[in-house]
Amino acid sequence: MGQAIIVLNAGSSSLKFSVYAVADPKLDLIAHGQIEGLETAPRFTAKDHNGNSLADAKLPVGQDFGHPQAFSHIANWIEEHYASQYSTTGIGHRIVHGGAKFKAPTRINSEVISELEKLIPLAPLHQPHNLAAVKAVSQSHPNLPQVACFDTAFHQDRSSVSMRFAISDEFFQQGIRRWGFHGLSYESIIGSLRETEPTLAKGRVIVAHLGNGASLCAIRDGRSVDTTMGFSVLDGLPMGTRCGSLDPGVILYWLANGMTPAQIEELLYKKSGLLGISGVSNDVRELLKSSKPLATEALDYFVYRIVREIGSLTAALGGLDALIFTAGIGENSSVIRQRVCQSLGWLNVAIDSQANQNNSRRISTAGSSPVVFVIPTDEEGVIAQQTRRMLSP
Ligand code: ADP
Repeated sequence: MGQAIIVLNAGSSSLKFSVYAVADPKLDLIAHGQIEGLETAPRFTAKDHNGNSLADAKLPVGQDFGHPQAFSHIANWIEEHYASQYSTTGIGHRIVHGGAKFKAPTRINSEVISELEKLIPLAPLHQPHNLAAVKAVSQSHPNLPQVACFDTAFHQDRSSVSMRFAISDEFFQQGIRRWGFHGLSYESIIGSLRETEPTLAKGRVIVAHLGNGASLCAIRDGRSVDTTMGFSVLDGLPMGTRCGSLDPGVILYWLANGMTPAQIEELLYKKSGLLGISGVSNDVRELLKSSKPLATEALDYFVYRIVREIGSLTAALGGLDALIFTAGIGENSSVIRQRVCQSLGWLNVAIDSQANQNNSRRISTAGSSPVVFVIPTDEEGVIAQQTRRMLSP
């Protein structure tokens, strides 16, 4: 009988899962899917590793269909389909915040859960949901080993100047610092680069994770040197619906003029970014199709801020050997890549337009240094590998 690892990624209204067969040297994805619409209209979908549908069903809406019920449904489905071939050896969770304490994947026990609960104020929109999935598993499968894999961990060896805001050290000690996120994605990209370009992977690399959430990371010798996201997932680049960098004076102005913290939160997380500027959509594809001037302006702003931050991170690295695009926009939008790279001509970046249109792995011309790559991110794969390593004797 084979062994399997399950990866869970719990959001506010969804529980995503992936099932991996443990093989040597890699793990094989067998199935992945999600239950979305928790607490409202839950719907279960699952696909095989080729993207063929294995399940697609609206679930009978109970009063209370949250993470525990969702995990139980997913566990039963996995059991029904795979128990004859595989036994589950562990569960890896995506946990958004590990704070200063958790710099590496960690086996979960009750003390770890209480430590992670203390970090809820630092990531109130994500951490409680991540932990809800952990607790659901603990309750229904108390003997199944669980591993926490953190979005913040990759960034925790940065210099203090890169992590600090210019406010009293007391606040830094309380955790008001530039933590950085998307670390599992950056680990995935660096792991992939190590396999194909080991020398470049030791050099000065900027990864542009451009999805619904977006950030850049400056990496030297495989380690995070700096990143655009900060205390929260709002900072840095403009995103689908999040604002990116914003002068804190704007928030003071809004507060002084009667907006409540809840209204400001809603505005900055859900109604800003590409959607906010354009008033059309958070989706780059829609904005590219739109003829509205503010849709064009939103994309212009997005590209401008990416280019500006790449300049800043290149300074932090003292030069640049490779630029890598990843996530939904980075992997699929040749137009955005072309526009960013064109504005980086001063850095000697030059891309081959055919390779770029084909979403090829290497899109730079032979003479371009930095080299430019498009590499798909695989955050779930990283969680599965980290979980396997933690559980190996
Ligand atoms: P998430 O942060 O939710 O994981 P993804 O990495 O899946 O996001 O990215 C989703 C975004 O990718 C969409 O909002 C859309 O803007 C963008 N995207 C996906 N495919 C394309 C495409 N072909 N061209 C341009 N943008 C795309």
